[in-house]
Amino acid sequence: MPAYLDNAATTPMRAESVEAMLPYLTERFGNPSGAHAVSREARKALDDARQTVADCLGARPGEIVFTGGGTEADNLAILGGAAVRPGPTVCSAVEHHAVLHACDAAGDNRLAPVDEAGVVDLDALAGLLGPSVSVVSVMLANNEVGTIEPLADVVALVRELAPAAVVHTDAVQAFPWLDVASLAASADLVAVSAHKFGGPKGVGALVVRQGVTVRPIIHGGGQERDRRSGTHNLAGIVAMAAAMRATVDGREAEVVRVRGLRDRLADGLVAVVPGCVETVDRSKKIAGNCHVSFDGVESEELLVLLDAAGVYASAGSACASGAVDPSHVLAAMGMPRQRALGSLRLSLGRTTTDADVDLALATIPPAVERLRAG
Ligand code: PLP
Repeated sequence: MPAYLDNAATTPMRAESVEAMLPYLTERFGNPSGAHAVSREARKALDDARQTVADCLGARPGEIVFTGGGTEADNLAILGGAAVRPGPTVCSAVEHHAVLHACDAAGDNRLAPVDEAGVVDLDALAGLLGPSVSVVSVMLANNEVGTIEPLADVVALVRELAPAAVVHTDAVQAFPWLDVASLAASADLVAVSAHKFGGPKGVGALVVRQGVTVRPIIHGGGQERDRRSGTHNLAGIVAMAAAMRATVDGREAEVVRVRGLRDRLADGLVAVVPGCVETVDRSKKIAGNCHVSFDGVESEELLVLLDAAGVYASAGSACASGAVDPSHVLAAMGMPRQRALGSLRLSLGRTTTDADVDLALATIPPAVERLRAG
C-alpha cells in the first residue's frame, strides 16, 4: 500500500460527506433560490448546512458566506474588504498565494516579516499598522511548515493601531487540527476550505462577522445576502457541513493520534538520516505537519524517488520556468537557499496509519543516501 502523505494539499472525502452529498446530486436537485416545493426542500438543506457550518466555526448562520473554495474565500475577504475601506493592506510574509496575490491585486500591500519559525513578528507588524490600513491578514496555521500564528495578539494590535481595519484569517490549514471557533473568535473574517478536512473540492466558506461589510467580487443574482452571487453548490455545501461536523466531533482524538504518528515519523528521520533537521519546533505547529530538510539533497529529485516507491509528499520549493526557487515561506523564515531546496513536507491526516509511517521511514533514508552518493 502506498503512503499518501500530502494531506495539506488535499484529503480524501469522508464517508459521511459522500453520503450526505449523494441525494443532492440526484433526487434532491433543487435550486434553493426558487419558490416551489423542490426548491423549498433544497432551501431547508441549505439552511441546515449553514447552521452546522456556523456552529462549527463559532459564528451565526447569517455570518456564513458559502464560496467556491478557500481561494475564493480569501479573495472575497481581501478584495471585498479593501474595496469598502480604501487604504493599504497588511499581511504576513508566509501567507498562501490566495492571500498574498489578492493583497497585491488590492493595491498597496505591506508584508509583515516572520521569525525563523515562521511566526509573525508582532513588533514589525505594529510598525506597519496605522489609521489608513484597510485589511490585515494573518493565517491561523501555515500550509507549508505548519506554524500556528498568534492571531489573538494580531487582532489586539490591529484594534489598537489600525482601528479602521478588518482582520482576516486564513484558517484553511488550521481547521482539521485547531479549535478555529475559539482561536479565530476575534477575527472579522475567517476562511475555510472543505477539501482540506474530508469534504469535496471547490467549496468553502467565509465568516463575515455581523457589522463587517465586504463588497462582492462575484456579481449576479444576489445569493448569500448579496455577498456571493451564483446558484448554490448545494451538494458541495451539504457535504462540507457533514465533513465539518465529523471533523469537529473527532478532532481532539485525531490530534492526539496523528501527533503520535507525526512524532514517530519526525523522530525516525532525524535519528536515521544525518543532516536531517526539522524546520519548526513541534510545539509551535499543527499535529499533521512534518517538515524537514536534508543537507546536500534536492527535494525535487527526492520526490521522484519517493513517488516511485509509493510515498506521496511535496517539497518546499516551487519550480517556475525551469528554475527551482525556494518557497516564499522558507525564504521569509530566513532559511538558507541550499537547505530550503532540500526540504520535504510530509503532511499527515485522518487516513494516515502506522503502516504509512513505516513505509516513509523505510523509503526516505535510503533515497536520501542514494541522492547524496550521486
Ligand atoms: N489557503 C491555504 C492556507 C491553503 O493551504 C489553501 C490550499 O492549498 C488555500 C488557501 C486555497 O484553498 P482552495 O484549494 O480551496 O482554493
